[in-house]
Amino acid sequence: MELTASEKTILTAIGANDGISRKELAKATGLSPGSVTLLTKALLQGGYIVEGERIGAGLGRKEVLLHANPDKFYFLGIDIGGYRVRMAVSDNRFAILHEAEFLIADVDEDAPKEAWVVASAVRLMEDIGMDTSAIAAIGIGVTGIVDAGRSLVLSIPNAKHWERLDLPQAFRQSFRCPVYVEEGGRTMLLAEKFMGKAKDEADYIVVHSAYSVVAGMMIGGQTLRGARNAGGLLGHITADPNGTRCTCGNYGCLENIVTYPMLEHEYKNRDGQYPSLIEAYRLNDKTAIDVCIEAGQAFGIALSNVVNLFNPVSIYLGGPMFDDFPILFEEMKRTITLRANRFATLGLQLERSSHNHRQGLYGALILAKHELLFPS
Ligand SMILES: [Zn+2]
Repeated sequence: MELTASEKTILTAIGANDGISRKELAKATGLSPGSVTLLTKALLQGGYIVEGERIGAGLGRKEVLLHANPDKFYFLGIDIGGYRVRMAVSDNRFAILHEAEFLIADVDEDAPKEAWVVASAVRLMEDIGMDTSAIAAIGIGVTGIVDAGRSLVLSIPNAKHWERLDLPQAFRQSFRCPVYVEEGGRTMLLAEKFMGKAKDEADYIVVHSAYSVVAGMMIGGQTLRGARNAGGLLGHITADPNGTRCTCGNYGCLENIVTYPMLEHEYKNRDGQYPSLIEAYRLNDKTAIDVCIEAGQAFGIALSNVVNLFNPVSIYLGGPMFDDFPILFEEMKRTITLRANRFATLGLQLERSSHNHRQGLYGALILAKHELLFPS
C-alpha cells in the first residue's frame, strides 16, 4: 500500500510516541479527530499499526493506545566506525532481535570490504534462522565521507583500505531490499530525534567520541550536509596548529587530541608512570588529569565555535570516554560556557546522548525504516 502524506504523518507520530491515543494523535499532528479515525483505520488494515492497552478510569470513555506493528517490517542496521563494525536485526519498533560486532583490525587488509560486510550480515541472519528476504530495508551509517548521492562510501579516515565502497551494489546479490547509506553522525541525529531526547528539537547536535569524533548537526530542522555531503566534520577541524599528522592528511585535527589512542599517546609522551591513562586517571595521577583537562579544553573550544555558528538548543554527547574521564567532560562544559557567545549559550543544554555505544546502530536501523517509508 502506498502511504499518503497524512498516513506518513500519523506513522511518524506513532513512531515518536509509542503507545499514543487517537486523541493525542490529533493533538500531536494537528489533524482533525475525524481524519485521525479514518487514517488509523487504514493503517490498522494495512498492518502498519496495532491497538494496545486501554487507558482511562471510571465511567469516562476508554482510549485505546496505538503502537507500530512490531512484525510489519524487519530491518538490518550496520554501523561502520573506524575501529568497530556493529550490526543488528530489529523489528519494526526497533527492538533488537540479534546483534554482532567486529573489530576493523580483524578484517583482512586485502580482502574486498564490501564482500566482507555482506558475508557478515548473511551470517548474522543465519544465526537467528531468518531468511535474508525477511529484511525490508538496510540502513548503513559510516564514520567517514559518503558521496552526495549517498550510495558510495568515499573514505573512512581511520580504516585503511576502506575506500570507494559501493555497499548497495554489494548487497544486491544476497538481500533483495533497498540499502541506504548515511554518514554516522547523521544517523546518530536520527536516533536522538526518533528514539531519544530531541523529539521536539529543530536545532541540536550529537557528538560521539571514542576512537574518532563523530558529529551530526540538525539546523532549522534540516540535517547539515553542505554542498558535497562533507559538512559538519567536527573531528577534522584544526585544534592544534602544531599538532601531529591525522589519518585524514591534515595536521592537528581535533581527533588527534581527544580520542582514546591520542590521549594515551599524550600520556606516554609526558612520561606517565602508569601502564595506561585510564588506570592513572583512576588513581588521581596529576599527569593523567592534566592530559584530560587539556583535551577537554580543546573539545570545548571546538564546540564553542559550533555553538557560535549554529546556536543549537542542545548538544548530546556520547561515548565511553566521558564515563572514563569525567573531568574531560566537565572541562569541556566549562570551556563552552566560558568561550561561546553568551547569547548563543543562553538555555543551551549539554546532555548525554540517549543510546551510548548503540547510538549509531539505532540510527542505522531508523535510517532503514525512514528512508523506506518516508524517503527524503
Ligand atoms: Zn583529520
